[in-house]
Amino acid sequence: MQGFDFTVKLYEKMLATLQNAGYRFLRYKEFSVGNDRDGKVVILRHDVDAKPRHSLQLALVENRLGITGTYYVRMKKTSFDENVINSLVELGNEIGYHYEDLAVCKGDCSMAWDTFRHHLGLLRNHYNVTTICMHGSPLSRFDNKCLWEKYNYRDAGIFAEMYLDTDFTKVGYLTDTGRGWNRISRIRDKVESNNHLNFKNTFELIGAIQRGELPDQLVITIHPQRWTANRVDWLTEFVGQSVKNLVKMLLRKRGKIYAR
Ligand SMILES: [Zn+2]
Repeated sequence: MQGFDFTVKLYEKMLATLQNAGYRFLRYKEFSVGNDRDGKVVILRHDVDAKPRHSLQLALVENRLGITGTYYVRMKKTSFDENVINSLVELGNEIGYHYEDLAVCKGDCSMAWDTFRHHLGLLRNHYNVTTICMHGSPLSRFDNKCLWEKYNYRDAGIFAEMYLDTDFTKVGYLTDTGRGWNRISRIRDKVESNNHLNFKNTFELIGAIQRGELPDQLVITIHPQRWTANRVDWLTEFVGQSVKNLVKMLLRKRGKIYAR
C-alpha cells in the first residue's frame, strides 16, 4: 500500500529525492538568462491558480530543505494574496506573473496589453517581476500567448516567458495536472518536448528519480492547491479535480475546448 498521493509529506519526499540524486534548484529568472545552469538542475514552477495559502505551505517545506523556486501569481482574488506574496518573497522565492489578460479581455489585444502592464505594476509593488508564464484558461477560446504576436513583453521589462523562452527539446517537463505526472493533456499547458515523461503517480516519479532516469534539466510545474496536508482536504480536492476533468473531457468531445 503506497498511501495517498499529492500530500505535502510526499512532496517533501520528492524534493529530498531530487536533492539526493544531485539536482540543484534554480529560480526561472536565473535559469532563463543562462546563469549557473550546468549539471543537474530543477526549476520548480508553481502556478498559484487558487488557494494561495497552499503555496505558502509548500514554500515552507521547500525552505526547510534550502530550496527556492518561482511562483506565478494570477491577478484574481482566488490567487492574489498580498500577505502570501510577501511571505513567498521573504523566503527567497521569485514571483512571476501568471497572466491571462487576453482571455479576460476576450481577445482585445490592445486592452489586454494595457491590463497586462497595469497588473505587472501591481505585482511589482511586491517583487521586481522579470519572468512570466501564461495561465492556460482552458475554457476560453483565446490563447493568452497570442498577445505576443502583437506586443513584446520585453518592452515591459520581462526577460522570459516560460513557454516561449525555454528550449523544451533539451529541458524535461513534468506537470502535476490530472492526478498524475503529464497524465492529462492540459490543453494549452503542454510543451513540445523530446522527453516523453509520464508517471501514474508521485511514487513512480520518485522511483524514476532514484534510478537516475530523468533528464539533467527539468521544469517541474506544481499546482500547490492540489497538494494537501490531510485526508479531508485530499478527498475534497480529488473529487473537485475529477469533476473538472470530466467537464473538460465533455467539452473537448463537443469541440468546445480550443486545442492548439
Ligand atoms: Zn494556471
